[in-house]
Amino acid sequence: MNQYTAHPMPEKYILEHLYYEKDLTQVEVGRVFNVSQKVVFGWFKKLGVKSRVAKKRDQRGDKNSSWKGDIASYEAFHKRVYSLRGSPSVCEECGTTESKNYDWANITGKYEDVNDYKRMCRSCHAKYDNKVKNITVHRLICGSGGL
Ligand SMILES: [Zn+2]
Repeated sequence: MNQYTAHPMPEKYILEHLYYEKDLTQVEVGRVFNVSQKVVFGWFKKLGVKSRVAKKRDQRGDKNSSWKGDIASYEAFHKRVYSLRGSPSVCEECGTTESKNYDWANITGKYEDVNDYKRMCRSCHAKYDNKVKNITVHRLICGSGGL
C-alpha cells in the first residue's frame, strides 16, 4: 500500500468526465474523492488520463458557468431534482408505496441531468448501490447513508 493505492481508484471515465467535461482541476477532482492532488495525479498516470495545460478560470465557456467545481455543486444538482421533480413517494424498482424513505438515486453518473435520477425506496437504493461503479461519488451525492 502506498499513497496511490490507499484510496480505491475511480473508473477512468468518471475521472475524465470530471476533468475534461466538467473542467475541474486535479485539486478539485481530489476534493470529490477526498484525496490530495498528488493521488489524483497518480491515478491519471496509471489510467492514462492526459493532464491538460492549466488554463485560467475566466476562459471557461458559459456552459460551465454554473459549475462551481466541488461536491457542493453536485449536491445542488441533487437538490434541484427534488425541487423540479418533487419528493419521491413510490419506488420505480419494486413499486412499493409503503416505504418510510425514498431517494432520488442517480442512474448513470450524469448528476447534473435531472432526468438521470430514479425514485427508489431505501432498500432498493441500497441494493442498487452495489451495482454503482462510482460508489464514492454516488454515496456523496445520493447518499443512502441512512442505512
Ligand atoms: Zn424499492
